[in-house]
Amino acid sequence: MTKLAPVLSAHWDEKDSFTIEAYTRHGGYKASQKALAMDPDAVIQLVKNSGLRGRGGAGFPTGMKWGFIPQGDNKDHYLVVNADESEPGTCKDTPLLMANPHVLIEGCIIACHAIRAKHAFIYIRGEVTHVVRRVNQAIEDAYRAGHLGNGIDLVLHVGAGAYICGEETALLDSLEGFRGQPRLRPPFPAIAGLYARPTVVNNVESISAVPAIVANGAEWYQSMGTEKSKGTTLYSLSGHVNNPGQFEAPLGITLREILELSGGIRNGHTLKFWTPGGSSTPIFTQEHLDTPLDYEGVAAAGSMLGTKALQIFDETTCVVRAVLRWTEFYKHESCGKCTPCREGTWWLVQILRDLEAGKGTEADLAKLLDLCDNIMGRSFCALGDGATSPITSSIKYFRDEYIAHITHGGCPFDPVASTLFVGAGA
Ligand code: SF4
Repeated sequence: MTKLAPVLSAHWDEKDSFTIEAYTRHGGYKASQKALAMDPDAVIQLVKNSGLRGRGGAGFPTGMKWGFIPQGDNKDHYLVVNADESEPGTCKDTPLLMANPHVLIEGCIIACHAIRAKHAFIYIRGEVTHVVRRVNQAIEDAYRAGHLGNGIDLVLHVGAGAYICGEETALLDSLEGFRGQPRLRPPFPAIAGLYARPTVVNNVESISAVPAIVANGAEWYQSMGTEKSKGTTLYSLSGHVNNPGQFEAPLGITLREILELSGGIRNGHTLKFWTPGGSSTPIFTQEHLDTPLDYEGVAAAGSMLGTKALQIFDETTCVVRAVLRWTEFYKHESCGKCTPCREGTWWLVQILRDLEAGKGTEADLAKLLDLCDNIMGRSFCALGDGATSPITSSIKYFRDEYIAHITHGGCPFDPVASTLFVGAGA
């Protein structure tokens, strides 16, 4: 059985884990010294060799992304860290930044050196004021200790809070002071990103993985995980479980193993459905308990690893209601730039509300799927596609439950069960 393997989260249970003293006590800032003494291209090659892939959802190889930055172009280069975590169920970067902000700062120093950037930005949403305070303090301490300010500067930018600003080009627009809406690509950020300069945009967890790779070597990182999905990662367990939280394990662990290692489904209940990577990834059921949670394993089973946000729902949950709640979120967060998503998510909510209330028909179910078909692949960015995933996958696995709402004239679950679902905070 695959075991938990704390690397990033190794010292999170120490009371002062977030301080520069604790980070230094555990060998922090030695990896950046080592990297700064290396040729930048050698650092990129090391990260390439490690097999590290972006932890923000797409799984793009991190070293390859760094390698796209043109060198010797006499232009400013930028590193932008995407800390705009806001997908329902996704909750890994916030605890990471609260427990150990210095590992991200050290990762930024190494990445800046590798891509020959003098300025890095961390883009975070304004609602998480406790995280903003903590990261600002850590940046201040890193400047005072001389880790920052000697050729590499780091700025924490606080956004106003919009899900779309987690999309990398919308994030760049927001960082430049414009309304956050996705840009047409090409050009890609590696060529014309922040202020039209070559820019790497990486997720918090991706950059935070780098110091350990530099310290321990690519082979060490390669030794964990599966053939194409290397290293460890943070799996965020939430919902109807006894012990929700972050569980760091090698990629490829299964949900069954994580549940066994973490205390399982809440007592007396059984698993009904779950998300492997947040609410925009197609849902899974009991039959996927042994699916390897790596990029390839989850894709082969019909979903996406996404942000590894494992939201667990037991048999008391009404799947129609859960999907309605997620769809309301996507409708609210649609930036309005393109018609399929702006109009489509509004209609999805109307139809789902009718179905959930028992006022829908089987024709509405067909209309729902038709709408999804017209949003999927026709939207400007991934938000539109993501909004359809919970709907199409839930109809695939729980069509009978949708029909039961129609024939029953409402939710077939008793009111207590529905209340339990609301309490789960989906
Ligand atoms: Fe905006 Fe939605 Fe279109 Fe993305 S898919 S650009 S969020 S309207």
